[in-house]
Amino acid sequence: MTDCDCLILGGGAVGLACASVLAARGIDVQVVDPRPAAGGVMQSERVDGYLLERGPNSTLNTSLRVERWLAELGTTAARCFGPAAAARRYILRAGGLCALPTSAAAFLRTPAWSFRGKLRLMAEPLIPRRRATTEECLADFVRRRLGQEGLDYALDPFVSGVYAGDPARIAIDAAFPMMVGFERDHGSLVIGMIRTARARRADPDRPANRALYAFQEGMQQPMHVAAARLGERLHLGQRAERVVAEGARLRVEGEGFTLTARRVVCATPAYVAAELLAPLSAEAARWLREIEHNPVAQVYLGYRRAQVGHPLDGFGALFPSKEGKLTLGSLWSSTLFPGRAPAGHCLLTNFAGGARHPEIRDLAPATIQERVVEELTPLLDLRGAPAFAQVQVLPRAIPHYTLGHTARIQAIERALSAYPTLHLTGNYLLGISVSDCWKRGLLLGDRLAG
Ligand SMILES: Cc1cc2nc3c(=O)[nH]c(=O)nc-3n(C[C@H](O)[C@H](O)[C@H](O)COP(=O)(O)OP(=O)(O)OC[C@H]3O[C@@H](n4cnc5c(N)ncnc54)[C@H](O)[C@@H]3O)c2cc1C
Repeated sequence: MTDCDCLILGGGAVGLACASVLAARGIDVQVVDPRPAAGGVMQSERVDGYLLERGPNSTLNTSLRVERWLAELGTTAARCFGPAAAARRYILRAGGLCALPTSAAAFLRTPAWSFRGKLRLMAEPLIPRRRATTEECLADFVRRRLGQEGLDYALDPFVSGVYAGDPARIAIDAAFPMMVGFERDHGSLVIGMIRTARARRADPDRPANRALYAFQEGMQQPMHVAAARLGERLHLGQRAERVVAEGARLRVEGEGFTLTARRVVCATPAYVAAELLAPLSAEAARWLREIEHNPVAQVYLGYRRAQVGHPLDGFGALFPSKEGKLTLGSLWSSTLFPGRAPAGHCLLTNFAGGARHPEIRDLAPATIQERVVEELTPLLDLRGAPAFAQVQVLPRAIPHYTLGHTARIQAIERALSAYPTLHLTGNYLLGISVSDCWKRGLLLGDRLAG
C-alpha cells in the first residue's frame, strides 16, 4: 500500500460505489476494508443449494445514476425483478395473516384494519397540519395523521420489518423527510403524494421502471464486479485504526500499514468512524458514538414445497409489535427471485429482534430458530422439521435514526469542518437502502472527481 490521492475507508455499498467512479476517472484511489470480501453487509452465500443473503435481499430501482453505473459494471443482464405477485404483502393481525390491499375495493374488504380504523385512515386529508416546529417522533406523527390503527397495523410493521426500528424513537424528519414535507407544504400525506407525483415523474434521475430487484447470484454480485475492477487498489483484510492530520494531508494508520492521502473518504459504520476520527475530533467521535444500531437475527429456513401449506404468493409477511412476536417479518425469497432454493424446495428468510427485541443479541441461535419456527408454523402451515436451517445474528445491523439525529449529524459536520479533505459518508446519513447508499457513493465520487 502506498500514499495516494484518495483513500477510502470501507468497501461496502457506499465506499465501493465511490471508489469505482474515482478509478474510472483515472484518480489515484485506494480502498481498505478488514473483511475478507468486498460489499460490506452485502454478502451472498450459496449453502446446500440455497442462496443466503447475509444483508439486503433486494432493493428498489430509484435512480438512473445507479442504473447507469450497474450498466457500466456490465451487471444489467444479471438483475432479476420480482414477479407481479411480489406486490402482495401480508400482515399479521389477530393471529392470522391478511393480505394488504392493493386497490380501493380490496381496502374496503380487508380485515387488516377495522371499519373505524379505515374511516380514520380515509380522514387523513382532513387532519389539520401541525404548527409546532419541535422535533416529532414517527409514532406521534403517524398517530396524529393516520390514527392508532394506522400506526399499529401499517407503519409499525413496515418500520420494524425494514428498519428494525422503534417508531416511538425514530425522528420523522431524519428518517422520512418527505412525509414531513407533504404535511408542511400540502397539509396532508395523500394530497402531498398526489400533487408531487408529476414533479417526481419529471425528476431527471427517475428511472422508467421503479421496481424491486436483486441479482441472479445475489446482491453481492455487482460488488464483486466493482471489486474486481479496482484490482490491486482494493486492500481487503486491512483494518484502518486512526486518521490524523499531517500537514496538508491526512495520515491513516492501520494494522500493519501507514500511508498518507490528500483526501480521505470515511465510509464505515458510524461506530467505527467514531474510533477512526477520534484523533481529529473528540467532539465528532462523541456524537458518532451516539448513533445507535439495532440488532437483527436472520433465520434462514428451507422446506420441501410440500411441507408448506401456505401458497407463499407474495413478498412475505410483516409482524406488528402489537402481535407480540419475536419475528419481525418473513421474506419469501424463493417466490421473489429464481435460484434461491433447490428444485422442489422453498427458502424463507426471516428477521427477528430489532429495536423491539434487543435481547436477541444474547439469545442462543438455536433458541432464536426455535421461537421463529414456532411462530411461523401455524401461519404458514409448516409441516415437519425444516430441510435446511441457519441463523445469523448481527448485533449492530442497522442505524437507528432516533430523535436528535439531524442535530447530531450537523454537530458531527461542524466538528469536522476544519478538515475539508475528509469526507464522511455511510448509511447513517440520509437513507439506509442499498439504492440510497449506492447513489450517495456515486454522487460523492462524481464530486471528488469533478
Ligand atoms: C440484515 C440487513 C438487511 C438489509 N436489507 C435491506 C434490503 O432488503 N434492501 C435495502 O435496500 N437495504 C437493506 N439493508 C440496508 C443496506 O444493505 C445497508 O444500509 C447498506 O448496504 C450499507 O452500506 P454501507 O456501505 O453504508 O455500510 P457497510 O455495508 O456496513 O460497509 C462499511 C464497510 O466498512 C468496513 N469497515 C469496518 N471497520 C473498518 C475499519 N476499521 N477500516 C476500514 N473499513 C472498515 C466494513 O468491513 C464494511 O465493509 C439491510 C441491511 C442489513 C444489515
